[in-house]
Amino acid sequence: MRNLLTFVLLIAFLPATAQTEINPKVKGDKDKQFILNEIDKHAAVYKKVSRDIWGYAELGFNETKSTTELQELLKGNGFTIETGVSNMPTAFVATYSYGTGGPTLGLLAEFDALPGLSQDSTFTKKPIIDGAGGHACGHNLFGTASSAAAIALREWLIKNKKAGTIKLYGTPAEEGGSAKVYMVRDGLFNGVDAVLHWHPSSANDASPSSCLSIKQTMFRFYGRAAHAAAAPDAGRSALDGVESMNYMVNMMREHVPQDARIHYIINKGGLAANVVPDFAEVEYMVRHPDARVVEEIWNRIVKASEGAAAGTETTTKYEVVSGSYNLVPNVTLAKVMYSNLVKVGGVIYTPEETAFAKEIQKTIPRAPDLSQAAEVQPFKTGGFFPASTDVGDITWVVPTVGLGTATWVPGAPAHSWQAVATGGMSIGQKAMLNAAKTLALTGADLFNNPALLQQAKDELSKTLGPGFTYKSMIGDRKPPLDFRKGK
Ligand SMILES: [Zn+2]
Ligand SMILES: [Zn+2]
Repeated sequence: MRNLLTFVLLIAFLPATAQTEINPKVKGDKDKQFILNEIDKHAAVYKKVSRDIWGYAELGFNETKSTTELQELLKGNGFTIETGVSNMPTAFVATYSYGTGGPTLGLLAEFDALPGLSQDSTFTKKPIIDGAGGHACGHNLFGTASSAAAIALREWLIKNKKAGTIKLYGTPAEEGGSAKVYMVRDGLFNGVDAVLHWHPSSANDASPSSCLSIKQTMFRFYGRAAHAAAAPDAGRSALDGVESMNYMVNMMREHVPQDARIHYIINKGGLAANVVPDFAEVEYMVRHPDARVVEEIWNRIVKASEGAAAGTETTTKYEVVSGSYNLVPNVTLAKVMYSNLVKVGGVIYTPEETAFAKEIQKTIPRAPDLSQAAEVQPFKTGGFFPASTDVGDITWVVPTVGLGTATWVPGAPAHSWQAVATGGMSIGQKAMLNAAKTLALTGADLFNNPALLQQAKDELSKTLGPGFTYKSMIGDRKPPLDFRKGK
């Protein structure tokens, strides 16, 4: 009786991982089954790590606890850690090599939060601490899933005695700090054959897509202060310099490709109207789907600043604050990623999760059907997001592929309290494990098939055209480590 009871209890309390071990779509494929099991086996650890980082909600370049937790996880699983890379204390590279030779695959792991978006894992808006940060872009899940994929791939290399190297890049400050651009500039991706990444989303999607390249610059003008009524002839207005520059750029808008975007704000335009301003500053952003066009337009904006300074007898200097390339999609790799996402599938809600998600959806206008969370979006090429990411620079130097999984309920936008809420509970964590599985399965396919890697490289060379050499937009500037200071 006692034995029977123990047996019944054992069945009842079998961990959830055991139930998910059989995935019908990979049945008979022991290699793929092994990878899925590796991730399921450690699911509890990954959920905890992602929830811890969600709780820390540390802002760009201040992610001390988050980076430490990810590094500890990887170190404990046989990776060698190089920390503080590219002069960024929270950036790291975790490396594992089996044998000699073999391909090198990179995985990206983000972990920074956003200011002012503190939120509990509840279906109503409820900050944990008013004004504090929150993981509204799901980077707590991002960093953890990529680490989980790297760990599963390491186990797989060992099991199959396959030569290869895995490099997991801990990339801080995605939200405004552009850490990856510094890492690319400093050559940290040299010798990598392909890079895999993912992003939290409200849908499961592995179609290749691109985005906007961006370059952000401060133009500073220096004039001569004087009494604006008593001695205006003695003054030279720095604000005149800014206004003349803006006038020229506004005329230029008619003569740039129409998918270009040029935005500016005047940060400083003087302190009192009765003083001729001796200092003024205007901040510019230029965007276009092709980084090379951004560079061309930016060069013309610099000419406008020089012309404005000459005509107003002021002087000007500029500082490039940040700049990132657009994403170059790689169809060869995207097809491999997509086939694996289909095998892993979407996010299946429990009745409790369905109820939670329905409540969240009440706060989202025009939310699509909840069933979207369980579906994988059909494969299509030509996708485009009118935003920018620092992943872009990587895609110009190494064939790169990404995916999105439904960590947020269908319709929930990024950078919203709704995104923070599900990123801290089971819905986000399930989608995180799906991302980890898809990344690891794709990595194994690429380790198994070097010809695919060559095909991906050939595709990249063809897209970029002959004679292309990558040059970072940020010059030799240092990372803006204090850009979130006081936020
Ligand atoms: Zn974001
Ligand atoms: Zn993000």
